[in-house]
Amino acid sequence: MTISVGVFGAGGRMGSEVCRAVAVDPDLELVTAVDPFHAGIDLRQVTGADVAGQVARDADALAQAGAQVAVDFTTLEAARENLRWCARNGVHAVVGTTGFVDDDYRELTRHFTSSNCFVAPNFAIGAVLMMRFAELAAPWFQTAEIVELHHDRKIDAPSGTAVLTAARMAAASDEWGDDPTETVVLEGARGGAASGGIRIHSVRLRGLVAHQEVLLGTTGQTLALRHDSYDRASFMPGVMLAVKAVPERPGLTVGLDALLEI
Ligand code: NAP
Repeated sequence: MTISVGVFGAGGRMGSEVCRAVAVDPDLELVTAVDPFHAGIDLRQVTGADVAGQVARDADALAQAGAQVAVDFTTLEAARENLRWCARNGVHAVVGTTGFVDDDYRELTRHFTSSNCFVAPNFAIGAVLMMRFAELAAPWFQTAEIVELHHDRKIDAPSGTAVLTAARMAAASDEWGDDPTETVVLEGARGGAASGGIRIHSVRLRGLVAHQEVLLGTTGQTLALRHDSYDRASFMPGVMLAVKAVPERPGLTVGLDALLEI
């Protein structure tokens, strides 16, 4: 049986990629797409496939089209609103929008009772493995810093992946060395302190997509773990996996690891 899917943010870079991936997946059907800023665009134009309909203005289009799963790649504020709508209307949600904090996760757990919610700050399988390797390495090193690098239109910093990586490394070890910095000549030079005091540095460059390097150091040796997403297509196998899994996972699930069993 095919799963009917609606996509929030269909006019955006990730949303349009999701529309194309859903349209060609034999187990899924793209029944509608929502984007108030790109309403009226023909879905054939978005997907390059034979999908009838136009991008709708608001979420009610999902109910009208009978969407079972909604995918959200929008902005933090829009995603919060879209998810409240999904929870109220019993539509499962798969969320890639970044910037959620603990309060958001608590609210999602409270609200998603009649449908399910899956959130992943990174849907690239290589990035999920990188986070796992960083967590495994953490207890063997005393210093670590994360450099995340993204395209020049990313509006939030640091990336959700970097924040989650630091949190997982901090949970795996509490033996981190103190920051030796006594004088900061240029504000921000040491990046932002995340969980465990692990510093995150955010680079924004035209030409990049999504990249991250985790640097770990101990006496006489360092380890660098790097992942590169060169194309937004790299996120699609993970998104499609989540869309197919979310109807069977009650409540809130965070992170693609849960589906990869790593
Ligand atoms: P983008 O190109 O700016 O796309 C966001 C789209 O959502 C835009 O078309 C925007 O319209 C639209 N939008 C705004 N409010 C909306 C609403 N209420 N309902 C529906 N659509 C709405 O950004 P992007 O590069 O696709 O990234 C989107 C999000 O995904 C970001 O948070 C990014 O960090 C995240 N991301 C996650 C992953 C992952 O693996 N989890 C990977 C890549 C990106 P306007 O442009 O007109 O405002």
